[in-house]
Amino acid sequence: MDSEHLLSKLAEDVEIIPEELPYEESRPDTVIINTCGFIGDAKKESIDEILLAVSAKQAGYVGRVVVCGCLSERYKEDLKESLPEVDAFFGSFQWKEILNWMRVHSKGDWTGRHLTTPSHYAYLKIADGCNRKCSYCAIPLIKGPFKSVPMATLVKEAKALAIKGVRELILIAQDTTFYGMDLYGKKMLAPLIQKLSRIDGIEWIRIHYSYPTGFPKDVLKEMAENPKVCKYLDIPLQHSSTKVLKMMRRGVDRERQQSLLDDLRSRVPGIALRTTMIVGHPGEGEAEFNNLLEFVKHNRFEMMGAFTYSEEEGTYDAKTFKDEIPQSVKKRRYARLMKLQSRISLENNLKRVGGVEKVIIDDVKDGFLICRSQKESPEVDGSVIVDMNSFPGFDSQRYIGKFAAVRIVSATEYDLTGVLAGGYTEKKQ
Ligand code: SF4
Repeated sequence: MDSEHLLSKLAEDVEIIPEELPYEESRPDTVIINTCGFIGDAKKESIDEILLAVSAKQAGYVGRVVVCGCLSERYKEDLKESLPEVDAFFGSFQWKEILNWMRVHSKGDWTGRHLTTPSHYAYLKIADGCNRKCSYCAIPLIKGPFKSVPMATLVKEAKALAIKGVRELILIAQDTTFYGMDLYGKKMLAPLIQKLSRIDGIEWIRIHYSYPTGFPKDVLKEMAENPKVCKYLDIPLQHSSTKVLKMMRRGVDRERQQSLLDDLRSRVPGIALRTTMIVGHPGEGEAEFNNLLEFVKHNRFEMMGAFTYSEEEGTYDAKTFKDEIPQSVKKRRYARLMKLQSRISLENNLKRVGGVEKVIIDDVKDGFLICRSQKESPEVDGSVIVDMNSFPGFDSQRYIGKFAAVRIVSATEYDLTGVLAGGYTEKKQ
Protein backbone atom coordinates (compact mmCIF):
# COMPACT_ATOMS: atom_id res chain seq x y z
CA MET A 1 0.00 0.00 0.00
CA ASP A 2 2.83 2.41 0.82
CA SER A 3 4.27 1.34 -2.49
CA GLU A 4 0.96 2.16 -4.22
CA HIS A 5 1.07 5.76 -2.93
CA LEU A 6 4.68 6.07 -4.09
CA LEU A 7 3.84 4.54 -7.49
CA SER A 8 1.00 7.01 -7.92
CA LYS A 9 3.43 9.90 -7.37
CA LEU A 10 6.06 8.36 -9.64
CA ALA A 11 3.44 7.76 -12.34
CA GLU A 12 3.12 11.54 -12.70
CA ASP A 13 6.54 11.56 -14.36
CA VAL A 14 7.69 8.04 -15.15
CA GLU A 15 6.23 4.92 -16.71
CA ILE A 16 5.42 2.11 -14.25
CA ILE A 17 6.21 -1.38 -15.60
CA PRO A 18 4.25 -4.41 -14.30
CA GLU A 19 6.43 -6.35 -11.88
CA GLU A 20 5.30 -9.72 -13.26
CA LEU A 21 7.59 -9.30 -16.28
CA PRO A 22 11.13 -10.70 -15.94
CA TYR A 23 13.85 -8.04 -16.01
CA GLU A 24 15.20 -9.37 -19.33
CA GLU A 25 11.90 -8.39 -20.92
CA SER A 26 10.92 -5.26 -19.01
CA ARG A 27 14.44 -3.68 -18.99
CA PRO A 28 13.57 -1.03 -16.36
CA ASP A 29 15.71 2.08 -15.82
CA THR A 30 15.10 1.80 -12.08
CA VAL A 31 13.91 -1.00 -9.79
CA ILE A 32 12.58 0.05 -6.37
CA ILE A 33 12.36 -2.75 -3.77
CA ASN A 34 10.21 -2.07 -0.70
CA THR A 35 11.56 -4.46 1.92
CA CYS A 36 10.12 -6.03 5.07
CA GLY A 37 12.13 -6.90 8.18
CA PHE A 38 9.39 -8.43 10.33
CA ILE A 39 10.67 -11.99 10.70
CA GLY A 40 13.39 -14.20 9.31
CA ASP A 41 11.34 -15.40 6.31
CA ALA A 42 10.35 -11.87 5.27
CA LYS A 43 13.96 -10.71 5.56
CA LYS A 44 15.11 -13.60 3.38
CA GLU A 45 12.46 -12.83 0.76
CA SER A 46 13.54 -9.17 0.66
CA ILE A 47 17.24 -10.07 0.33
CA ASP A 48 16.43 -12.55 -2.46
CA GLU A 49 14.57 -9.81 -4.36
CA ILE A 50 17.49 -7.41 -3.96
CA LEU A 51 19.97 -10.05 -5.16
CA LEU A 52 17.79 -10.78 -8.17
CA ALA A 53 17.68 -7.10 -9.14
CA VAL A 54 21.41 -6.67 -8.52
CA SER A 55 22.29 -9.61 -10.75
CA ALA A 56 19.94 -8.24 -13.46
CA LYS A 57 21.79 -4.91 -13.15
CA GLN A 58 25.13 -6.68 -13.56
CA ALA A 59 23.75 -8.45 -16.65
CA GLY A 60 22.74 -5.07 -18.10
CA TYR A 61 18.95 -5.52 -17.88
CA VAL A 62 18.38 -2.99 -15.08
CA GLY A 63 19.70 0.56 -14.83
CA ARG A 64 19.57 1.34 -11.09
CA VAL A 65 18.48 -0.52 -7.95
CA VAL A 66 16.87 1.33 -5.04
CA VAL A 67 16.02 -0.32 -1.70
CA CYS A 68 13.59 1.14 0.83
CA GLY A 69 11.30 -0.01 3.67
CA CYS A 70 11.72 -1.67 7.07
CA LEU A 71 14.72 -3.87 6.41
CA SER A 72 16.62 -0.99 4.90
CA GLU A 73 15.61 1.28 7.81
CA ARG A 74 16.94 -1.17 10.36
CA TYR A 75 20.06 -2.50 8.69
CA LYS A 76 20.98 0.31 6.27
CA GLU A 77 24.69 0.43 7.13
CA ASP A 78 25.14 -3.36 7.00
CA LEU A 79 23.26 -3.57 3.70
CA LYS A 80 25.31 -0.73 2.17
CA GLU A 81 28.47 -2.57 3.05
CA SER A 82 27.37 -5.98 1.76
CA LEU A 83 25.47 -4.77 -1.32
CA PRO A 84 27.58 -2.00 -2.91
CA GLU A 85 25.82 -2.58 -6.26
CA VAL A 86 22.63 -1.00 -4.84
CA ASP A 87 22.44 2.64 -5.93
CA ALA A 88 20.51 4.04 -2.94
CA PHE A 89 18.96 2.95 0.36
CA PHE A 90 16.01 4.70 2.03
CA GLY A 91 14.17 4.06 5.32
CA SER A 92 10.53 3.17 5.99
CA PHE A 93 8.90 6.55 5.49
CA GLN A 94 11.31 8.33 3.15
CA TRP A 95 8.90 8.53 0.23
CA LYS A 96 9.62 12.20 -0.51
CA GLU A 97 13.35 11.52 -0.44
CA ILE A 98 12.87 8.75 -3.03
CA LEU A 99 10.94 11.14 -5.29
CA ASN A 100 13.72 13.73 -4.97
CA TRP A 101 16.34 11.11 -5.75
CA MET A 102 14.30 10.07 -8.81
CA ARG A 103 13.93 13.78 -9.75
CA VAL A 104 10.14 13.45 -9.83
CA HIS A 105 8.50 16.75 -8.96
CA SER A 106 5.10 15.75 -7.66
CA LYS A 107 2.04 17.86 -6.95
CA GLY A 108 -0.93 17.38 -4.59
CA ASP A 109 -1.37 15.19 -1.52
CA TRP A 110 -0.53 11.53 -0.91
CA THR A 111 -4.03 10.02 -1.11
CA GLY A 112 -3.57 8.91 -4.76
CA ARG A 113 -3.01 5.19 -5.38
CA HIS A 114 -1.58 3.24 -8.29
CA LEU A 115 -3.31 -0.07 -7.55
CA THR A 116 -1.24 -3.21 -7.71
CA THR A 117 -4.34 -5.29 -6.90
CA PRO A 118 -7.17 -5.99 -9.39
CA SER A 119 -9.26 -2.83 -9.76
CA HIS A 120 -12.21 -4.10 -7.67
CA TYR A 121 -10.47 -4.46 -4.31
CA ALA A 122 -7.90 -2.40 -2.44
CA TYR A 123 -6.09 -2.38 0.87
CA LEU A 124 -6.67 0.67 3.05
CA LYS A 125 -3.87 1.20 5.55
CA ILE A 126 -5.56 2.96 8.44
CA ALA A 127 -2.49 3.26 10.69
CA ASP A 128 1.15 2.36 10.93
CA GLY A 129 3.44 1.47 13.82
CA CYS A 130 2.44 -0.27 17.03
CA ASN A 131 2.15 0.53 20.75
CA ARG A 132 1.85 -3.10 21.91
CA LYS A 133 4.73 -4.88 23.55
CA CYS A 134 4.57 -8.44 22.18
CA SER A 135 7.78 -10.02 23.39
CA TYR A 136 8.80 -11.62 20.09
CA CYS A 137 8.05 -8.75 17.73
CA ALA A 138 10.45 -6.24 16.22
CA ILE A 139 7.82 -4.11 14.47
CA PRO A 140 7.53 -1.41 17.15
CA LEU A 141 11.34 -1.08 16.98
CA ILE A 142 11.22 -0.73 13.20
CA LYS A 143 8.05 1.27 12.68
CA GLY A 144 7.82 3.26 15.92
CA PRO A 145 4.62 4.09 17.81
CA PHE A 146 1.09 3.65 16.45
CA LYS A 147 0.07 6.47 14.09
CA SER A 148 -3.51 6.61 12.81
CA VAL A 149 -4.27 8.14 9.44
CA PRO A 150 -6.89 10.87 10.01
CA MET A 151 -10.41 9.70 9.27
CA ALA A 152 -11.04 12.45 6.72
CA THR A 153 -7.95 11.38 4.74
CA LEU A 154 -9.09 7.74 4.72
CA VAL A 155 -12.61 8.65 3.61
CA LYS A 156 -11.21 10.79 0.80
CA GLU A 157 -8.92 7.97 -0.30
CA ALA A 158 -11.73 5.41 -0.13
CA LYS A 159 -14.05 7.65 -2.19
CA ALA A 160 -11.37 8.00 -4.86
CA LEU A 161 -10.91 4.22 -4.90
CA ALA A 162 -14.67 3.63 -5.19
CA ILE A 163 -14.82 5.99 -8.17
CA LYS A 164 -12.06 3.92 -9.81
CA GLY A 165 -14.21 0.77 -9.39
CA VAL A 166 -13.09 -0.60 -6.02
CA ARG A 167 -15.89 -2.56 -4.34
CA GLU A 168 -14.06 -4.20 -1.46
CA LEU A 169 -11.88 -2.37 1.05
CA ILE A 170 -9.51 -4.40 3.19
CA LEU A 171 -8.57 -2.47 6.31
CA ILE A 172 -5.01 -3.07 7.48
CA ALA A 173 -2.62 -1.76 10.14
CA GLN A 174 -0.35 -3.46 12.64
CA ASP A 175 -3.31 -3.33 15.04
CA THR A 176 -6.56 -2.19 13.38
CA THR A 177 -8.62 -2.30 16.58
CA PHE A 178 -6.38 0.39 18.15
CA TYR A 179 -7.34 2.84 15.38
CA GLY A 180 -7.94 6.40 16.61
CA MET A 181 -6.37 6.15 20.10
CA ASP A 182 -3.46 8.45 19.24
CA LEU A 183 -5.51 11.01 17.27
CA TYR A 184 -8.88 11.03 18.97
CA GLY A 185 -8.12 9.62 22.45
CA LYS A 186 -10.44 6.64 21.91
CA LYS A 187 -10.82 3.63 19.65
CA MET A 188 -12.50 4.78 16.45
CA LEU A 189 -12.55 1.73 14.16
CA ALA A 190 -16.35 1.40 14.34
CA PRO A 191 -17.03 5.09 13.46
CA LEU A 192 -14.50 4.76 10.61
CA ILE A 193 -16.29 1.68 9.28
CA GLN A 194 -19.63 3.52 9.43
CA LYS A 195 -18.22 6.37 7.33
CA LEU A 196 -16.61 4.02 4.82
CA SER A 197 -19.78 1.98 4.47
CA ARG A 198 -21.70 5.10 3.42
CA ILE A 199 -19.49 5.47 0.32
CA ASP A 200 -21.33 4.62 -2.89
CA GLY A 201 -19.82 1.63 -4.67
CA ILE A 202 -18.12 0.13 -1.59
CA GLU A 203 -19.94 -3.12 -0.88
CA TRP A 204 -17.58 -5.12 1.30
CA ILE A 205 -15.34 -3.91 4.14
CA ARG A 206 -12.98 -6.49 5.57
CA ILE A 207 -10.98 -6.21 8.81
CA HIS A 208 -7.48 -7.64 9.10
CA TYR A 209 -4.94 -7.72 11.94
CA SER A 210 -7.28 -7.10 14.85
CA TYR A 211 -5.93 -7.55 18.37
CA PRO A 212 -7.73 -9.62 21.00
CA THR A 213 -6.96 -7.51 24.09
CA GLY A 214 -9.64 -4.86 24.57
CA PHE A 215 -11.44 -5.75 21.33
CA PRO A 216 -13.88 -2.83 20.86
CA LYS A 217 -17.49 -3.83 21.52
CA ASP A 218 -18.78 -1.32 18.96
CA VAL A 219 -16.78 -3.12 16.24
CA LEU A 220 -18.50 -6.35 17.21
CA LYS A 221 -21.85 -4.57 16.88
CA GLU A 222 -20.85 -3.16 13.49
CA MET A 223 -19.84 -6.64 12.29
CA ALA A 224 -23.16 -8.05 13.48
CA GLU A 225 -25.41 -5.33 12.06
CA ASN A 226 -23.70 -3.53 9.17
CA PRO A 227 -24.40 -5.49 5.95
CA LYS A 228 -21.29 -4.06 4.27
CA VAL A 229 -18.91 -5.46 6.88
CA CYS A 230 -17.71 -8.90 5.83
CA LYS A 231 -18.56 -11.71 8.21
CA TYR A 232 -14.84 -12.30 8.46
CA LEU A 233 -12.21 -11.38 10.99
CA ASP A 234 -8.49 -11.80 10.92
CA ILE A 235 -7.44 -11.98 14.56
CA PRO A 236 -3.89 -13.23 15.18
CA LEU A 237 -3.97 -14.94 18.60
CA GLN A 238 -0.42 -16.41 18.57
CA HIS A 239 -1.08 -18.96 21.34
CA SER A 240 -3.67 -20.22 23.79
CA SER A 241 -1.72 -21.25 26.88
CA THR A 242 -2.04 -18.56 29.54
CA LYS A 243 1.57 -19.19 30.57
CA VAL A 244 2.89 -18.65 27.03
CA LEU A 245 0.57 -15.68 26.36
CA LYS A 246 1.95 -14.05 29.49
CA MET A 247 5.54 -14.65 28.39
CA MET A 248 4.58 -13.23 24.99
CA ARG A 249 3.22 -10.11 26.81
CA ARG A 250 -0.05 -10.30 24.89
CA GLY A 251 -2.11 -8.78 27.72
CA VAL A 252 -4.71 -11.54 27.48
CA ASP A 253 -5.19 -15.03 28.91
CA ARG A 254 -6.86 -18.15 27.49
CA GLU A 255 -10.21 -17.48 29.17
CA ARG A 256 -10.51 -13.93 27.83
CA GLN A 257 -9.49 -15.07 24.33
CA GLN A 258 -12.10 -17.81 24.49
CA SER A 259 -14.78 -15.44 25.69
CA LEU A 260 -14.06 -13.05 22.78
CA LEU A 261 -14.23 -15.92 20.26
CA ASP A 262 -17.52 -17.10 21.80
CA ASP A 263 -18.91 -13.54 21.50
CA LEU A 264 -17.83 -13.32 17.86
CA ARG A 265 -19.38 -16.69 16.98
CA SER A 266 -22.66 -15.93 18.75
CA ARG A 267 -23.07 -12.25 17.76
CA VAL A 268 -21.96 -12.69 14.13
CA PRO A 269 -23.46 -15.99 12.96
CA GLY A 270 -21.54 -17.57 10.09
CA ILE A 271 -18.41 -15.50 10.75
CA ALA A 272 -15.17 -16.86 9.25
CA LEU A 273 -12.26 -16.48 11.67
CA ARG A 274 -8.67 -16.38 10.47
CA THR A 275 -5.87 -16.56 13.00
CA THR A 276 -2.13 -17.04 13.27
CA MET A 277 -0.21 -19.07 15.86
CA ILE A 278 3.44 -19.25 16.83
CA VAL A 279 4.88 -22.62 17.87
CA GLY A 280 8.09 -23.09 19.80
CA HIS A 281 8.06 -19.81 21.75
CA PRO A 282 10.18 -19.99 24.94
CA GLY A 283 8.10 -21.56 27.71
CA GLU A 284 6.14 -23.82 25.36
CA GLY A 285 6.57 -27.31 26.76
CA GLU A 286 4.54 -30.36 25.71
CA ALA A 287 1.68 -29.32 28.03
CA GLU A 288 1.45 -25.83 26.52
CA PHE A 289 1.62 -27.20 22.99
CA ASN A 290 -1.19 -29.68 23.78
CA ASN A 291 -3.16 -26.76 25.19
CA LEU A 292 -2.78 -25.08 21.79
CA LEU A 293 -3.87 -28.19 19.88
CA GLU A 294 -6.92 -28.56 22.08
CA PHE A 295 -7.80 -24.84 21.70
CA VAL A 296 -7.58 -25.08 17.89
CA LYS A 297 -9.71 -28.27 17.92
CA HIS A 298 -12.31 -26.53 20.04
CA ASN A 299 -12.50 -23.29 18.06
CA ARG A 300 -12.37 -24.77 14.57
CA PHE A 301 -10.95 -21.67 12.88
CA GLU A 302 -11.93 -21.34 9.24
CA MET A 303 -8.36 -20.38 8.39
CA MET A 304 -5.18 -20.59 10.40
CA GLY A 305 -1.55 -19.89 9.61
CA ALA A 306 1.41 -20.67 11.84
CA PHE A 307 5.06 -19.75 12.26
CA THR A 308 7.86 -21.51 14.03
CA TYR A 309 9.33 -19.10 16.56
CA SER A 310 12.53 -17.31 15.59
CA GLU A 311 14.32 -14.93 17.91
CA GLU A 312 14.45 -11.39 16.55
CA GLU A 313 17.27 -9.03 17.44
CA GLY A 314 16.45 -6.30 19.97
CA THR A 315 13.12 -7.78 21.10
CA TYR A 316 12.09 -8.39 24.72
CA ASP A 317 12.38 -12.14 24.07
CA ALA A 318 15.95 -11.81 22.80
CA LYS A 319 16.92 -9.88 25.93
CA THR A 320 15.00 -12.08 28.37
CA PHE A 321 14.66 -15.70 27.30
CA LYS A 322 16.80 -18.37 25.74
CA ASP A 323 15.53 -19.67 22.39
CA GLU A 324 15.72 -23.10 23.96
CA ILE A 325 13.41 -25.31 21.88
CA PRO A 326 15.32 -27.27 19.21
CA GLN A 327 14.41 -26.47 15.61
CA SER A 328 13.44 -30.11 15.02
CA VAL A 329 10.84 -29.91 17.85
CA LYS A 330 9.48 -26.61 16.50
CA LYS A 331 9.13 -28.12 13.04
CA ARG A 332 7.41 -31.22 14.39
CA ARG A 333 4.94 -29.13 16.37
CA TYR A 334 4.29 -26.93 13.37
CA ALA A 335 3.54 -29.98 11.21
CA ARG A 336 1.15 -31.43 13.84
CA LEU A 337 -0.69 -28.14 14.24
CA MET A 338 -1.06 -27.59 10.50
CA LYS A 339 -2.19 -31.17 9.94
CA LEU A 340 -4.92 -30.65 12.50
CA GLN A 341 -5.93 -27.35 10.88
CA SER A 342 -6.01 -28.91 7.44
CA ARG A 343 -8.57 -31.48 8.67
CA ILE A 344 -10.64 -28.73 10.33
CA SER A 345 -10.54 -26.56 7.19
CA LEU A 346 -11.70 -29.48 5.07
CA GLU A 347 -14.58 -30.26 7.44
CA ASN A 348 -15.58 -26.58 7.56
CA ASN A 349 -15.48 -26.32 3.77
CA LEU A 350 -17.45 -29.54 3.24
CA LYS A 351 -20.27 -28.05 5.34
CA ARG A 352 -20.62 -25.32 2.71
CA VAL A 353 -21.38 -27.82 -0.10
CA GLY A 354 -24.96 -27.38 -1.35
CA GLY A 355 -25.25 -23.78 -0.15
CA VAL A 356 -25.51 -20.69 -2.37
CA GLU A 357 -23.00 -17.92 -1.64
CA LYS A 358 -22.45 -14.43 -2.98
CA VAL A 359 -18.96 -14.17 -4.46
CA ILE A 360 -16.85 -11.53 -6.14
CA ILE A 361 -15.03 -12.62 -9.30
CA ASP A 362 -11.32 -11.84 -8.97
CA ASP A 363 -9.99 -13.36 -12.15
CA VAL A 364 -10.61 -15.69 -15.07
CA LYS A 365 -8.03 -18.36 -15.92
CA ASP A 366 -8.41 -20.98 -18.68
CA GLY A 367 -12.20 -20.65 -18.60
CA PHE A 368 -12.43 -20.87 -14.79
CA LEU A 369 -13.81 -18.00 -12.70
CA ILE A 370 -11.63 -17.45 -9.63
CA CYS A 371 -13.95 -16.03 -6.99
CA ARG A 372 -14.13 -15.29 -3.27
CA SER A 373 -17.02 -15.14 -0.84
CA GLN A 374 -17.03 -12.97 2.31
CA LYS A 375 -15.23 -15.88 3.99
CA GLU A 376 -12.10 -15.50 1.87
CA SER A 377 -9.67 -12.62 1.81
CA PRO A 378 -7.49 -12.19 -1.28
CA GLU A 379 -3.98 -13.61 -1.35
CA VAL A 380 -4.12 -15.36 2.04
CA ASP A 381 -7.26 -17.54 1.81
CA GLY A 382 -8.63 -20.01 -0.73
CA SER A 383 -10.96 -19.41 -3.68
CA VAL A 384 -14.32 -20.49 -5.02
CA ILE A 385 -13.71 -21.81 -8.54
CA VAL A 386 -16.38 -21.96 -11.24
CA ASP A 387 -15.79 -23.88 -14.47
CA MET A 388 -17.21 -21.94 -17.45
CA ASN A 389 -15.61 -24.13 -20.14
CA SER A 390 -18.93 -25.68 -21.10
CA PHE A 391 -20.36 -22.23 -21.97
CA PRO A 392 -19.25 -21.53 -25.55
CA GLY A 393 -18.84 -17.84 -26.35
CA PHE A 394 -18.44 -17.00 -22.68
CA ASP A 395 -16.99 -13.48 -22.49
CA SER A 396 -14.68 -13.99 -19.53
CA GLN A 397 -13.24 -10.51 -19.14
CA ARG A 398 -16.71 -9.01 -18.57
CA TYR A 399 -17.03 -11.04 -15.38
CA ILE A 400 -13.99 -9.74 -13.48
CA GLY A 401 -14.92 -7.48 -10.53
CA LYS A 402 -18.57 -8.51 -10.57
CA PHE A 403 -20.61 -10.25 -7.92
CA ALA A 404 -22.32 -13.56 -8.62
CA ALA A 405 -24.33 -16.18 -6.78
CA VAL A 406 -22.61 -19.55 -6.74
CA ARG A 407 -23.86 -22.95 -5.57
CA ILE A 408 -20.99 -24.80 -3.89
CA VAL A 409 -20.63 -28.32 -5.27
CA SER A 410 -17.37 -29.63 -3.81
CA ALA A 411 -14.60 -28.67 -1.43
CA THR A 412 -10.99 -29.34 -0.47
CA GLU A 413 -9.25 -27.91 2.59
CA TYR A 414 -8.23 -24.85 0.54
CA ASP A 415 -10.63 -24.19 -2.32
CA LEU A 416 -14.25 -24.80 -3.20
CA THR A 417 -15.82 -25.39 -6.58
CA GLY A 418 -19.24 -24.20 -7.61
CA VAL A 419 -21.65 -23.42 -10.42
CA LEU A 420 -23.36 -20.12 -11.16
CA ALA A 421 -26.65 -20.15 -9.30
CA GLY A 422 -28.24 -17.05 -10.76
CA GLY A 423 -27.28 -13.80 -12.48
CA TYR A 424 -24.50 -11.48 -11.53
CA THR A 425 -24.51 -7.73 -10.92
CA GLU A 426 -22.82 -5.32 -13.29
CA LYS A 427 -19.81 -3.48 -11.95
CA LYS A 428 -20.57 0.23 -11.48
CA GLN A 429 -18.25 2.45 -13.50
S1 SF4 B 1 0.45 -6.18 17.94
FE1 SF4 B 1 2.24 -7.28 18.74
S2 SF4 B 1 2.77 -8.66 17.05
FE2 SF4 B 1 1.44 -7.10 16.18
S3 SF4 B 1 2.87 -5.52 15.43
FE3 SF4 B 1 2.27 -4.93 17.49
S4 SF4 B 1 3.88 -5.74 18.80
FE4 SF4 B 1 4.02 -6.80 16.82
